[in-house]
Order: sequence, then structure tokens, then C-alpha cells
Amino acid sequence: MNFTKPTADKPSLLTPYEVETFLHEFGHALHGLLANTTYASLSGTNVYRDFVELPSQFNENYLTEKEFLDGFARHYITGETIPQELVDKIIRSAQFGAAYACIRQLGFGYTDMAWHDATQPIEDAVALERQATKQVEIFEPVDNLIFSPTFSHIFSGGYAAGYYGYKWAEVLDADAFAKFKENGIFDKNTANEFLNNILTQGGTDNPAKLYRQFRGQDPSIDALLIRDGIKKAPEINAEINKN
Ligand SMILES: [Zn+2]
Repeated sequence: MNFTKPTADKPSLLTPYEVETFLHEFGHALHGLLANTTYASLSGTNVYRDFVELPSQFNENYLTEKEFLDGFARHYITGETIPQELVDKIIRSAQFGAAYACIRQLGFGYTDMAWHDATQPIEDAVALERQATKQVEIFEPVDNLIFSPTFSHIFSGGYAAGYYGYKWAEVLDADAFAKFKENGIFDKNTANEFLNNILTQGGTDNPAKLYRQFRGQDPSIDALLIRDGIKKAPEINAEINKN
């Protein structure tokens, strides 16, 4: 990881983004380290592409949890923990433009699917893009402007017909973390359910089935909309007002 280097008079002080990256990659590491399967080809992160980012993105949720931060994140001189006010600012800045970013991401997902759904040669790439993004269009498209030629993810980047996986993983990670928010972010039973149904299982079973076993229900988009500040959650508002 390319963390900020220490200097002569300062230790390595990580930015929130660096801590988020650490949490993310550590989630992939746990998926591999805690795997309990017979075959390597089905072990750890050897799962469907739209399921592989669940453990990693799930971990990122801890970045803005005061209870987690208080365990280690102290001012390197004063020893003071991060004030809730600062954590709230990180949350609010992450919510800036989140709805637009979400719609844009869906547009990319629909375009990916449109290309890979095609059963005949495409004559008009601009028309294909316009059609694919119509339902999520916010701004009037600029004439003859298309992004598909530079959208390398969906041709040689390994995300062909799978670009939606980014957004889908967000739905899953927010919904999974919502269970922890309900029961406590360090709740042992909930953690064991995540361990036994997700982290140890790799690709040995259908991800939808594994997820339902952990969550007790199908994922809903509500937790993601709440986290992005698009939908209001009564409990979360009460918590912010309290602080
Ligand atoms: Zn990842």
C-alpha cells in the first residue's frame, strides 16, 4: 500500500482515504485467510465478480464509526480521539453529489449491458448509448459525445457484462453493515454469522443463498440510500442531533 511516508519529525499520518483503502484490502485478506473450503478454486475471493467486493467494501463502513475509531485513531501529539463532529464532516462530504454519482454509475452499468446484450452488429454506437442511459439521464446529452470507446473496463478490463457489480456490491455491503448497525458494530453473534455464512464459504455456494443465510432476508437498497444521504433514517437523525 502506498501510504503517506513518515518524515524526520512526523510519523506516517494516514489520510481517511488511506485508512479506507487499508480496511478495503484487509476485507479481501480476511476473505482469503478465513476461508474454510476444500478446493482452492472455490476458496476465499474465488467467487462471482459481483460478490467479491462484499467483504472488502463491508469493512470500509467502519471508517466512520466512532466506536471503531476510538480504538486506535488518536492525535499523534495530544492523544485526543477524533471528535464526532469531524467524523460527521467526513460522512457529509462523502454524501456530496452521491445521488448524481449513483445515477451516473447506473448509466455505466446499463451501457455495459447494452453492448454485451447485442445480438447483431452495432451500426450506431451513439444511439446505443443514448438508448441505454435514457432511463437515468439527468442532463441533456451533448451531440455526438460518447464514452463507450474509453470505457475500457467493459471491453478488456474484465468487467464485461459485470460493471453493475460495483453498485451491487455497495447495495450488499451497506445492507450487511445495517445488520451490524442494528445489533452493534462489534456484536459477536452478528460477526459469527458473517464469518460462517460469508467469509469462510468462498464460492462453494450460490452468493444469494449465502447472503440470505447471513441476513435472514434479501438485500434491500434502503441502507445504501440512507448511507449516501439520499433517504432519511429516523434513528440516524436522532443520533446526529444528540451529538
Ligand atoms: Zn476490492
